[in-house]
Amino acid sequence: MASDFKRIGFKSILEELANADNRVDGDYIDEQGFLCCGVCHQRKQYETDLFGDGKRKVPIACKCDDERLQKAIDDIKRDELRKAMTSNEKYDKMTFANDDGSNEQVTKICKEYISDWERMYQNNIGVMFYGSVGTGKTHMACSLANALIDNLASVEIISLSSFLNQSAKFGELDEKIARLMKFKYLMIDDFGAERTTEYANEQVFNLINARYLSEKPVIITTNLSLEQMENEGNIDKHRIYERVLEMCPMRIKMVGKSKRTVIADEKRKLAAEILKRGVSK
Ligand SMILES: [Zn+2]
Repeated sequence: MASDFKRIGFKSILEELANADNRVDGDYIDEQGFLCCGVCHQRKQYETDLFGDGKRKVPIACKCDDERLQKAIDDIKRDELRKAMTSNEKYDKMTFANDDGSNEQVTKICKEYISDWERMYQNNIGVMFYGSVGTGKTHMACSLANALIDNLASVEIISLSSFLNQSAKFGELDEKIARLMKFKYLMIDDFGAERTTEYANEQVFNLINARYLSEKPVIITTNLSLEQMENEGNIDKHRIYERVLEMCPMRIKMVGKSKRTVIADEKRKLAAEILKRGVSK
């Protein structure tokens, strides 16, 4: 009895789907009487004997429907990836679209990386942005990260300071490291700014080494210079830097006037103008 009800329920769902109207503006009926898509011209109906009571036309998806569905699925995936990328909203907002254009050459290189990202990923080609404070390293690295998300590649952004705080707090370092290895890309912002106790160095090495062994790429921003990294005297730090350099064959030096100085200069100019106006009134 119960199974009969189930069958009736199943049939009524099918009935509803079979009778659904999938016609939209621009669609037309072809010579054989089938509904066709006005855009891709594929048939949107299929003839079948659904319930053993004679043939009938039932709706099917055309190429455009499939593409729309795929796009909707991708949009959901993209939202989820972006939510998982960081809990820091400022990182979400740093994209190529709102890049101030002050490093045109670097932007171009980064966009080229994105256009071939799958090959970059497969060959484990990481990117390091280095240079002095305020030259836009984080913005450029995040633009890269956000563009990877647009391409449905998973990215996680961390700072080693918070990684160390969390791992010290929860004592769950191994789990945390294992979780970070699942992402296609790991971005470490402000590498080298974390505290460097013997314990911290060990934790950082564990993370970097795990990533190295996973053969998945990293994106690094750092205020350290290449010389500093290459010539580090401390043996613990040296082995961390050695791995990082090996993982980042693409090293981009960010130069130019510090963005913070530029903003300060603009503010000073504005203040001077306001003052002048005040005086001339
Ligand atoms: Zn179509």
